[in-house]
Amino acid sequence: MATYPPLAERPIKNTIVLFDVDGTLTPARLSVSPEMLNLLSRLREKVAIGFVGGSDLVKQQEQLGTPETNVTSLFDFCFSENGLTAYKLGEPLPSNSFIKWIGEDQYKELVRFILHYIADLEIPIKRGTFVEFRNGMINVSPIGRNASTQERLDYEKYDKEHGIRREFVERLRERFGHLGLTFSIGGQISFDVFPTGWDKTYCLKHLENEAKKPDGIEYSTIHFFGDKTMVGGNDYEIYEDPRTIGHSVTGPGDTIAELKALFDL
Ligand SMILES: [Mg+2]
Repeated sequence: MATYPPLAERPIKNTIVLFDVDGTLTPARLSVSPEMLNLLSRLREKVAIGFVGGSDLVKQQEQLGTPETNVTSLFDFCFSENGLTAYKLGEPLPSNSFIKWIGEDQYKELVRFILHYIADLEIPIKRGTFVEFRNGMINVSPIGRNASTQERLDYEKYDKEHGIRREFVERLRERFGHLGLTFSIGGQISFDVFPTGWDKTYCLKHLENEAKKPDGIEYSTIHFFGDKTMVGGNDYEIYEDPRTIGHSVTGPGDTIAELKALFDL
């Protein structure tokens, strides 16, 4: 296995390069190319590198690792679920979750309100799984996540006409906005509820904590590469964050070209 200089001895000190995964290091939903892995390996000789992805580590292992290679060995920092699950040099850093953050009591109050609201909602059909509990968020669907493809299409049209999700989210904001929750309508049938700030900028907390450790490194230059950097895209917040130097790319080929130029690889 390749070895790299210790983080404190990388030639370009205090610099880390962070990458979105899907559409930046890999083609959408596909695996990383040998060319990209080779380039990342050469980059790692010079600076610290990390990925920050919205999916969980299992998905990133699929896209970036192989059965023989653990993805946590390929990067100095691995930030899964935007950093709620994090690794440094293969070792886990403190994790976080929606339930840890909100607490059981407040969660029960939230889910009670949601289920009552859905129970009383007058819409053409309802199916099942109205609240999906995930590590970093909950996903709420008035029709239910078990809806078929056709039912989803019909619902999406109905929702556009009647503003079901929009009004639902407004009510939730009135009732729970003080908790610091973000409500994000996306896709056809649902919306996400998560703590405000739990976008990709969440991973920067880990880097700030690194700087505070004895012999910790302060990353004063943080490059970020992402493909969804426009407003509403999942790279937007970290791309625009004043703590990072943002690079907007059109795909892995573009990432490679920009890295070569930037770091003389
Ligand atoms: Mg992406």
